[in-house]
Amino acid sequence: MIIHSIQEASVNCPYCGEVISVLLDGSVEEQEYIEDCQVCCRPIVLHVQATIDGACTVEVRDENEA
Ligand SMILES: [Zn+2]
Repeated sequence: MIIHSIQEASVNCPYCGEVISVLLDGSVEEQEYIEDCQVCCRPIVLHVQATIDGACTVEVRDENEA
């Protein structure tokens, strides 16, 4: 059974370095989306991968990275 769960995670903004909290959707295996930093308002690219038990790992990078 797939667990459909929204989880909260903390990531470091690649621009200003502040820790911000984001919501991750554990029901999708792999996804990439943009969330604006809550501190500097610049767009952070979030790459989220969910494991089979619904846990999420998240990587962040700035929008200008290739
Ligand atoms: Zn920031």
